[in-house]
Amino acid sequence: MALTARDVMKRYATPAGPVDALAGVSIDVNEGECVALVGESGSGKTTLLRCFNRLVEPDSGVISVNDADVRRANEVELRRRIGYVMQEGGLMPHWTVQRNVELVPWLIGLPNADALVAEAMGLVGFADNSFSRRYPRQLSGGQRQRVAMARALAARPTVLLLDEPFGALDAITRADLQEMFMAVRKQRPITCVLVTHDLFEAQRLADRIAVMRAGAVEQIGDSRDVIGSPATTYVARLVAKAGLHGLDRHA
Ligand code: ADP
Ligand code: MG
Repeated sequence: MALTARDVMKRYATPAGPVDALAGVSIDVNEGECVALVGESGSGKTTLLRCFNRLVEPDSGVISVNDADVRRANEVELRRRIGYVMQEGGLMPHWTVQRNVELVPWLIGLPNADALVAEAMGLVGFADNSFSRRYPRQLSGGQRQRVAMARALAARPTVLLLDEPFGALDAITRADLQEMFMAVRKQRPITCVLVTHDLFEAQRLADRIAVMRAGAVEQIGDSRDVIGSPATTYVARLVAKAGLHGLDRHA
């Protein structure tokens, strides 16, 4: 499914005054594509991501999924079709792995929850299901993020929204999970929006990179263009900070 945001604005009232989290942002994500949202903290990445599954309601503008305005979409349908991996995983601490992963199939009343859970666990590398009775605290950080990914995949969504899913992991575990993500995408034609503050990760995992700044997209293009030819000094500074100018090394 394709995703679109058109001139989306979202303002929050804070004690320090209003904050424009989204200041007229527009973006198109094609069916089956992975777009990475990068940009410094506070640039509106999480807010934009959460507009697509209606956890955030824009003040103005239109969010559509396959050309249909999400405000007119059925909420159960939306939840089934759009998987979401929260920052820090967001697993329920008092629930077993099995119960966490079957949450969405159960919420929307799918009859074959057990089979869906097994399938999702297989996709994230837990085919033997040996973790299913454990609690999140009994898993490593990397295992927890795999379970969070399995939970997002369990209802066989066609869209996956990921908010810094590998952000809190050590470099080796992070590389393992990036491999897992790439393997999932090979097996499933899922449309992905991946928030990351790591340009190298964006370059590795995404088809296109969108650089966000102050609630808008500053530049969008394939990673070679964004990293090789930054359109603004802001993007150039981001690329320089990531130590990625000279992408040819990785190409
Ligand atoms: P990012 O994910 O890029 O770090 P966010 O989308 O989380 O950025 O936040 C964008 C801006 O909106 C920030 O200034 C943040 O403080 C503010 N913001 C986000 N959510 C809320 C909220 N629920 N209430 C008030 N301000 C918020
Ligand atoms: Mg965020």
